[in-house]
Parts: sequence; structure tokens; C-alpha cells
Amino acid sequence: MARLLRRGDRDVAVGEIRAKLALIGFSVECSEPEFFDDRMDQAVRAFQQARGLNVDGIVGPHTLQRIEEARWSLGDRPLSYTPGHLSHGDDVISLQQRLSDMGFDGGKVDGIFGPRTEAALKEFQKSVGVEVDGIAGTETFAALKRLNRTVSGGHAEKLRHAALMDSVRTGVRDKTIVIDPGHRGDDAGVCANGQREVDVVSAIAARLQGRLAAHGATVVLTRPLQNPSAIDDGERAALANDVDADLFISLHCDAATSPNATGIAAFHYGSPNGGWSHIGERAAQRIHTAVLARTHAADCKVHGRSWDILRRTRMAAVRLDVGYLTNESEAAALADLAYVDQLAAGIADGIVKFFEPVA
Ligand SMILES: [Zn+2]
Repeated sequence: MARLLRRGDRDVAVGEIRAKLALIGFSVECSEPEFFDDRMDQAVRAFQQARGLNVDGIVGPHTLQRIEEARWSLGDRPLSYTPGHLSHGDDVISLQQRLSDMGFDGGKVDGIFGPRTEAALKEFQKSVGVEVDGIAGTETFAALKRLNRTVSGGHAEKLRHAALMDSVRTGVRDKTIVIDPGHRGDDAGVCANGQREVDVVSAIAARLQGRLAAHGATVVLTRPLQNPSAIDDGERAALANDVDADLFISLHCDAATSPNATGIAAFHYGSPNGGWSHIGERAAQRIHTAVLARTHAADCKVHGRSWDILRRTRMAAVRLDVGYLTNESEAAALADLAYVDQLAAGIADGIVKFFEPVA
């Protein structure tokens, strides 16, 4: 589906989406199935809210993909690692969560069946004596069902998160940090009050790169700061995974219809329906706190989101929205190099704190 669908649209596709939403418990009564009415708008927003997506009521490729993923419950289909065509879905989230609760470390609970999910599944299969084929099929589902009541969920995962957090706390020196300045040449992001998001985040990234390098970190940028070519969020995440980064930080600006909106928000991977990066959350909190201390900007808090850039990165990943270009005075601040320098210094402080050795 190339087109974005929203309130007021009439389309066969609206009828299809309505039927899919009904299947996953967001049922919307109506007299005209192919009309995107107010109630359908509310249902789409409720779904987006429940999934940690942007709540805009618009059905584009991301929301549609998540609606598709939501129809799978664990046991509906066999699951395995298929390089190049990774299985996505709520059943994968359930499987990952179950394995994790039982102490089989499959990495992030992200609903994507990757090699680490396969390794954890094989460990599980070995431990319960079913064929170690890495395929979650009838036998594995039966084994999971048998164990249903014997497992105290969450404890193993918590312990492992604590261990993981301690394991990165060896100082920022020699860490690999990927800085992702948002947008590119043909997509400048938010443009308001004479500022372009692509330029603002490039200026911050340049200063941040210098500061982190001075601390002895290896810094990788997802795109050149000048004349950036086309690169999407999936490719940016893949690059961070390829260089085996310890931390990923994506920089963006914000926009709002109200010119009064201001402030700085940080995001980490987290979806209300399952999947939460505790290490990402900790990184987001450290960076957010340090940036507010330097800039005295308004506090727009730290939030869990399931955006691709946060979901597909395997390391601690943070997106920082450094301010609203739609606010006149914040846009002016972001054009001021002294302020930009304070922002970069704050981000660097937070990153140093994140990696700071346990006392
Ligand atoms: Zn942006």
C-alpha cells in the first residue's frame, strides 16, 4: 500500500484494515465499511497507543505492518530463523518473552526472529529434550505449554539486565558510539522559523563527535554531515549493528501545531504490548538528565517507543528530540552555536555517565 489512509478517506483498503483491526480486538461498528470515519480514527489511534507508535490516526506502511504483526498468537504458525526474511509478529514477541523469562538469553524482545532468538530457542530445546532444530513448532509449543505454570516470569530477565548494565560500565574509552543525525539531503525534516532540522542535527553531531573522540571513544556517523545521501532508518540501524556499537544515538528536532510547544524528549525501545529495552531506557535517562542540566530546556520526559530505529538496533539505542523548531525562541537557540555546544556537551556528559564504572 503506497497511500496513507486517514479520516475522511473512502477506499477498499479501508474495509480491509477495518476487518484486520476487528480480528485483533479493535472492532469498529459502522454502516459503510470502506469509509474511514471518526470511530475508525479512534480505533487506529488506540492501536497506535497500545503499540508505542506515533498516535496520529494515519494508516501508513508502519502502522499497517504492525496491524499485520498483531494477528499472530504463539502457536498459530511455526517460527524459525530465515535469513533475509525474518519473521515479525506478536507470536515472536511471546516466544522471546517466554524464553527470556526462563533464563534463555535471546537478546532484545523485539518481535523479530533473528539469530539470537534461534540460539536461545535451541538452548531451550536442548534443556527440555525436544529435537534441537531451532524451529518453534508443535513439539516446542507443547513443551512451552507444559512449563507454563512452573516458571516465575521475569526474574531471570531482570537479573540478566542488571548484569548487562554492569557489563558496559567500564568507561567510555574504546567504546564504539554511533551518532545518527536525522534526515538527509532530499528530506530536511522539520523546517520552521528559518531553521532546517537536517542542519541543526548535523551541527550537534559534529560537536558531539569531537567531544566523544576526546574521551577516547570510537565514533561512527550514519551519514556524512554535508551533502547527506538517501539512507533510511532500517539502513541506519543495520550500520550500527554491523559495527557492533555499544551505544546508538539518533538526533532529531520536533514540531508542533502550537508555537508554544518547547522542550527536549528522549526515547528508547519500548512497547506497551511487550518488549522493553532496560539498558536503552537507562541510556535515555542519563542523556536526557545531562542535557537538561546543561540547557535548562523544558522537560518533555523519557518515553518508550517501538520505532524502527529503536527496534532494529541491537545495542542501547536512544533518540533525542533536541527541541521544537516551530517555537520561535527554541529555534533561535538551536541556531546559536554556543547553545548547540551546550547541547553536545550535555549529550556527551550523559554518555560518559552511562558508561561510568560502578563505584
Ligand atoms: Zn526528524
